[in-house]
Amino acid sequence: MRCAVCGTESRQPRFRPIPPEGAPDLDLRPGEPLRGTMASWLQQCPYCSYVAPDITHAHPAAIEAVGTAPFRALIADTAHPLLARRFLGYAYVLEESGALHAAAEATLQAAWAADDARKPDLARAWRGDAVALWRAGPPLDAEQTVRVVDALRRAEAFEDAAATAEQLAASHPPEVVAGVIALELRLIALRDSGRHTVASALPPPARRPHASQGTIAKRNGMGGFWAFLRRLWRPKD
Ligand SMILES: [Zn+2]
Repeated sequence: MRCAVCGTESRQPRFRPIPPEGAPDLDLRPGEPLRGTMASWLQQCPYCSYVAPDITHAHPAAIEAVGTAPFRALIADTAHPLLARRFLGYAYVLEESGALHAAAEATLQAAWAADDARKPDLARAWRGDAVALWRAGPPLDAEQTVRVVDALRRAEAFEDAAATAEQLAASHPPEVVAGVIALELRLIALRDSGRHTVASALPPPARRPHASQGTIAKRNGMGGFWAFLRRLWRPKD
């Protein structure tokens, strides 16, 4: 593949998303088997380090961003897990292109990589950074606000999480969002910053192991969440 930034050709994995079978986390980190494929979500040019889902395309601002000192520093920081650096580099490129919500998403993905690498301090810091990027962008819809609440809770910013959740609950959100927010508020009250899945927010019959996620999704009006998840895999420009 030919890098859109430096023009050098390299071999790159071509990622084909596998539909998740397990329920996603409350921040919509997908369930397995998709969950375990993060290492192949982004391509990275071995010459200039440009990183994106498809390095054959680049926003004009991205081409400039790759040459800057902050980008080089993010990519070269060996104190951070390698996979997380790739997501942070991509987040920086997106931020410089003005795509703040997409940058928030990539920063949250860096936090997921930190979770997997057992670096809780980094994961908390990057969740906080993701929230700042979400809030710096255009107004968020109810589903996105749920993810902000979850990122705040997992970053142990419990007061901000509670205030944001209560504000959303008061806005008469769709039923499935209200269910997740009720669970978030219970977890926040317990000062629980751990990982929980969307399945915990659903009524008990939905938790029967033989029911496929597709069936659960339909029965519980989860279509919006799954549509949202699918949007995560489209290349962003
Ligand atoms: Zn390159």
